[in-house]
This record gives sequence, C-alpha cells and structure tokens, in this order.
Amino acid sequence: MIIQLNKNIKPEDKNKIISELKTKNYSCSEVKTMQGNYLVAIGKAEIDIRQIGVLKGVADIHKVSDNYKLVSRKWKTDYSEIDLGNDIKIGSNNFSIMAGPCSIENEEQIIEMVKHLKANNVKIMRGGVFKPRSSPYSFRGLGIEGLKVFSKHCKEAGIKIITEVMQVSQIEDMIDYVDIFQVGARNSQNFNLLDELGKTNKPVMLKRGLAGTIDELLFSAEYIFSAGNEQIILCERGIRSYEKAYRNTLDINAIPILKEKSHLPVIVDPSHAIGIRQFIEPLALASIMAGADGIIFEMHKQPEIAFSDGQQSLNYAESEKLYKNIRKTYDFRSSLS
Ligand code: PEP
Ligand code: MN
Repeated sequence: MIIQLNKNIKPEDKNKIISELKTKNYSCSEVKTMQGNYLVAIGKAEIDIRQIGVLKGVADIHKVSDNYKLVSRKWKTDYSEIDLGNDIKIGSNNFSIMAGPCSIENEEQIIEMVKHLKANNVKIMRGGVFKPRSSPYSFRGLGIEGLKVFSKHCKEAGIKIITEVMQVSQIEDMIDYVDIFQVGARNSQNFNLLDELGKTNKPVMLKRGLAGTIDELLFSAEYIFSAGNEQIILCERGIRSYEKAYRNTLDINAIPILKEKSHLPVIVDPSHAIGIRQFIEPLALASIMAGADGIIFEMHKQPEIAFSDGQQSLNYAESEKLYKNIRKTYDFRSSLS
C-alpha cells in the first residue's frame, strides 16, 4: 500500500497513521523525495483502505499488489517524465536519443563528437570514464579528470551527459559533472550503490543485469526510489542466453512488459545487446515499435580504432542515418491508432 502524505503533514498526524497501520499488522517505511512524501506499508491483512484514507494528512492512498511498490504502475498510472533542464526531458511524451563512444578517450574526441551531436540535434551524450571491463588489462577509462573535460565541453554546447558510476565512493566526485548517472549491468543489484544514488538529486539510468529478471530490475529501481530519488530510467541492454551468435539477446518482450508494470521510462541499448555494428539499426527501430522511450547507442569517429567496443560502434555517417530513421520510426509509431 502506498499512502501519499500531504507535504506539510504534522508529525502527530503522521504518527497516528503509522500506529493505525501497526494495529493492522502493517509495517511502514517513510519515503521522502523532491516530489513527494510517502508511506509504503507492507502487510498481509485485508483492510479497507478508506479507513486510512480518511485520516488527517493523507493526500492519496493506493493498494499495490506487486511486491515492488513505488515504481509500479498500479499506483502511478501516468508515465513519469524526467526533466534534465534546458527543455530536455525523458519519458512520457518525449523520445530520447543518447549517443556517444563506449569510452571517453581524449579531449579532441569529445570536441568533435559534441559538434557532431549538436549538428544532428542530439541532446544527450554517453561516454564512460569509469569502465567495467571483463579483463583487467583492457582500457578502464580516463577517470574523474576525463569526466571534467567531458563536462566542460558538453556544458558549453548545452548537451547533457550520461556516464557510468561504478562505486559509492565515486558519486561525490562525479555529481557536479553528470546529468544522468548510469548504473551498468554488472552493478544492477549493487544495493549499496543504488541506496546511495537514491540519496542524490540526479537522474539514474539503471541497466538490466546480465541475467537479471524484469522483477529484479524493478526491485533495483525500487531501492533508488525508496531511498529518496524518483528520477529513474530503466534500460534494456540484452540478457545473457545460451545463444553464441551475438553478444547478448535483446529482450524486446521486456519493453512492453516494463511499460505495463512500471511508470518509469524505458531506454533500449541495442549496442550492448547484439554487439554487432551492422545490426544496431534494425534493433533500435524494432525497440521503438515495441514502445521504447529512447535509444542509447555507441558511436565513434573511427570504430576500428576505438579503445573499447569498436565492433558495435557506428561511425558518424551510420549514426546520422540512424538518427533520421529513429525519428521517422517514432513519428510512424505516434501516427498509429
Ligand atoms: C556501457 O554502457 O558502457 C556498458 C558497459 O554497458 P553494460 O553495463 O550494459 O554492459
Ligand atoms: Mn561499451
């Protein structure tokens, strides 16, 4: 059950609600975000929610049968919108394109890429400075100094940054330089990291784990929300299956299922899903038709010499073709009845 409280509720009124729920064997967790003040009540007894709904200080009350609560659409039927500022929004009636290299490699690359994105009206640039690599001998990113340069050029151009945070200790150093924190597939259930990101005021894009179920993804999102941050984006990036013909299996099914179960925006990453450059476009377009709120993909001026994931990175010309076709496909989807 989710009880939305009035913003200026008196402590005694709140305590009355909590003790009333306690008598019915419900335990309460209080969640305060920038948008609202909630009690999440967990219990098994059948109760008439009107008995709680009439109490002083209750703005709204909902029964949520899912095990995750605040990210469920059973409570919030309208899709959430995340505002990055400068009229750049994610979710609801907005479609997002996020593009950029797998790893930030040097300043010249940033300057050129920013120019390319601006010319193509792409408002969000991706790029890792802390890279989770399967081998410790691979390039592991430029770190915080790289992020500062990345941020400087993007800020000047009015482009927003999404970049991966790998551990709690990095949050404080990164926070002034990122617009969206990315939680990578390998950290999808790093609950300490999720808790700490929940205490920040920056949007978080949470990737599905390599072998994560949809429910596990939503529970991870619930960690962020319940710690105080409602600005969450879900990302389908392919799951590991028995198939070896490509990197991962893009779970197209997950898109409409997530949109049904949750009010959070769903972004699809075809690059880390199929991992093969020539098939990024068809998967991106299929994802849009399946209901995605945006696409994130990897690109590089010269994919052949990229420090990481060149095999799945599009070059500039391929990216330009993809932006056009993404926009056409989104318009087509919007035109369907
Ligand atoms: C990435 O986006 O750079 C990345 C490492 O992705 P994932 O966590 O999905 O593997
Ligand atoms: Mn990559």
